[in-house]
Amino acid sequence: MSIAIPFIALLLVGAIAAYHRLRLPVWAALSATVLVAAWMLGANGAATLVAGLLLALVAVPLLLPQIRLPFITAPLLKFYTRILPTLSETEQVALEAGTVGFEGELFSGKPDWHVLLDQPRPMLTAQEQAFLDGPVEQLCRMTNDWEITHVLADLPPEMWEFIKTNRFFGMIVPKEYGGLGFSALANHKVIQKLSSISSVVSSTVGVPNSLGPAELLMHYGTQEQKDHYLPRLANGREVPCFALTGPFAGSDATSIPDFGIVTMGDWNGAKVVGVKLTFDKRYITLAPVATLIGLAFRMYDPDGLLGDKRDIGITLALLPRDTDGVEVGRRHFPLNSPFQNGPLHGREVFIPLSQLIGGEAYAGKGWQMLVEVLSIGRSITLPSTASGGAKIAAVVTGAYARIRKQFGLSIGRFEGVEEALARIAGNAYAISALAESTAAAVSRGENPAVPSTIAKYHCTEMAREVIRDAMDIHGGKGIILGPKNYLGRGWQATPIGITVEGANIMTRSLMIFGQGAILCHPWVLKEMKAAALPDPDERLREFDRNLFGHIGFAISNAVRALWFGLTGARFGKAPGDSYTRRYYRKLNRYSATLALMADTSMLMLGGKLKFKESLSGRLGDVLSNLYIASAMLKRYEDQDRPVADQPLLAWAFHDAVNKMEIALSGALRNFPVRPVGWLMWLLVFPLGRRAQAPSDRLGHRAAALLMSPNEARDRLADGVFTTPCATNPAGRIDSYLAKVILAEPVERKFLKALKTHNIEALSFSAQLDEGVREGWINGDERRQLEELREMTLDAISVDDFDSEQLRAGGVAEPQESLRREVA
Ligand SMILES: Cc1cc2nc3c(=O)[nH]c(=O)nc-3n(C[C@H](O)[C@H](O)[C@H](O)COP(=O)(O)OP(=O)(O)OC[C@H]3O[C@@H](n4cnc5c(N)ncnc54)[C@H](O)[C@@H]3O)c2cc1C
Repeated sequence: MSIAIPFIALLLVGAIAAYHRLRLPVWAALSATVLVAAWMLGANGAATLVAGLLLALVAVPLLLPQIRLPFITAPLLKFYTRILPTLSETEQVALEAGTVGFEGELFSGKPDWHVLLDQPRPMLTAQEQAFLDGPVEQLCRMTNDWEITHVLADLPPEMWEFIKTNRFFGMIVPKEYGGLGFSALANHKVIQKLSSISSVVSSTVGVPNSLGPAELLMHYGTQEQKDHYLPRLANGREVPCFALTGPFAGSDATSIPDFGIVTMGDWNGAKVVGVKLTFDKRYITLAPVATLIGLAFRMYDPDGLLGDKRDIGITLALLPRDTDGVEVGRRHFPLNSPFQNGPLHGREVFIPLSQLIGGEAYAGKGWQMLVEVLSIGRSITLPSTASGGAKIAAVVTGAYARIRKQFGLSIGRFEGVEEALARIAGNAYAISALAESTAAAVSRGENPAVPSTIAKYHCTEMAREVIRDAMDIHGGKGIILGPKNYLGRGWQATPIGITVEGANIMTRSLMIFGQGAILCHPWVLKEMKAAALPDPDERLREFDRNLFGHIGFAISNAVRALWFGLTGARFGKAPGDSYTRRYYRKLNRYSATLALMADTSMLMLGGKLKFKESLSGRLGDVLSNLYIASAMLKRYEDQDRPVADQPLLAWAFHDAVNKMEIALSGALRNFPVRPVGWLMWLLVFPLGRRAQAPSDRLGHRAAALLMSPNEARDRLADGVFTTPCATNPAGRIDSYLAKVILAEPVERKFLKALKTHNIEALSFSAQLDEGVREGWINGDERRQLEELREMTLDAISVDDFDSEQLRAGGVAEPQESLRREVA
């Protein structure tokens, strides 16, 4: 045994040093000290000597740059340059555009939780709050979603007017240009509230405040362009749209075939240099009513009017709607959610160079401009829309499940329904934390490239699950469309959010981990930059510094992953209170695991990793769920650790952890290099997969929160439109909940009496008469039961129509843009 002691001691010191990320000299000194101590305490001398030699063999070359640089680093640099993923210009631009916030900690394998917890609580200014309580509330009250989606297929004129005059289109425009100058957080809250009553209204307001003319002008516009256009965009004199997508360029937006040829032309009576544009765009939101079109096209200068470059590249321009040759006005019909959306065409449309966004100086920089600001809008519009939809679906489905009775019980009491309700509650909690935290990151001045893709993907996916469960719980009530239906349109519109701003399959499989692995990883980008340095000496030195940092990092993550796996992450430094500390510890485990998996995948697959979309997607799921769980914990802290919210937090947290383990096990079982996958399994799951879906008991507690008024439910509903008015059936049903619960004991008493007294009266009012006559209920209780009946009827009733009313108003004459172009 004493022979093994020096080697065991060496291994233990190595593991401890790796776990705590001690520096190389510290590890070497500690190891040497421990060996000496072991020998003095009686360990076998020969064994200690061998262990010491082993230590020297590893430590000396690593510690001496004279040996390390030529004999270790230089060959590794050669190998690295060979496996280095080649980055396209597009990817390079995307990487350089984003900032790294807390998500970088998740990739570190040892998150510094203070980076997250020290972030200020997201707060609105008094003006922003007043806008939410005033114009936003009023706009919600003006909204009649059925009229918008079925009768008008548009917002009524008074709503357009209200939106413009109250500067809803200018939320992001700075005050000096007449806009509201709101923070991203306020933008998020406005969209969230509007989407809880109508997705048509929220997209109409969301798009001008997302990626488009205003955002681009603020960042790149010339002073003249800003002075002219921003005030007009802020007060709605100009309605903008932004046209990138066309029939031949969807997800692969850089391949747009739309072109502009630099040439001389007439503009306002003068001969000027400009571009002649030919384009065919589709799916463009607000295009049919837009007065100012932001257009992306590829610019060519065949005659060299601007210089030597013939293919100048993707360029962005502003086209007034009435420019000669622009064809606009027809509409698409996106899944019964008739926000203004349609195609745009132009043939040889001339505009001067002064209409290029940023002027001639920005010609050819269009893609970079788009990517640089893309994350801002992507962090807000769709996550906020999903959040508003999920929150209102959660509260109204909870109320409905209590009010609607079958087999003599509220349907929410049945375990099957409870399961779906729990999913709604947990998902809504997660969505709202994720959407708010990403908006808050933008408010802090970050350009959260990776969190914006996580928020876009997961908020829309979880919202799809919420609305699916809500529809199932509502049964026929959710299916029959009409003014009383508050779910059907949301259900129909859900795939829109999944598809736009980066279709979800691509976002998950290509972008989340793909960008995260390089942008958030503490070493990869530095190594790539070092390997690309022109000076060979500097290249070797810089690469050496980063490479050894990276190797230490990888060893540390392997040790940490194994340790946490063996101990079930029960130990280790973590913030939080006695309730949440175990959650932080679990996240420490999966952070180490993610970092380990990321390194192994990059090492094994190099540049091929980006084509391994299934692996990338699964690792993206791990990163995403780490981020979502962190956002929930931060929110729990920000709300002063409300005990009442614990079932929601716990459900959503266990769900996230379970999803991480499913993703990890999928990644390992399908790892492209099989033996590496098996080996990694031992490190990641030394005791097997342990995480479970949230338990039924927890689900019961989460579901119960939705079915009665309480502070956790109020917090979940915070920020959505629940005012009970004629055009807000969801708000009305929600408002009944407290009264329905109060009436339940009387109802039970009455039903029991009906059963036991063999009543002959069949109609409800006759039964009530008899109940009062016989003294089973008093007059007040009768009124209570009548009111309960009325509320229940309002909650469960659906619409019916004359055939005429259901017939579409206009004669449809579809005209397919692709076929037209080919013809
Ligand atoms: C209602 C609506 C509004 C819109 N508004 C605008 C607007 O205002 N302005 C504008 O410019 N555009 C707009 N768009 C366009 C939208 O952004 C595109 O629809 C989107 O980029 C996807 O393009 P596509 O529909 O052609 O799908 P495709 O690109 O054909 O994709 C089809 C499927 O393939 C998947 N896929 C593609 N490539 C990959 C890959 N490499 N890996 C994995 N999966 C992949 C996608 O995820 C998707 O699931 C809008 C679209 C809609 C439907």
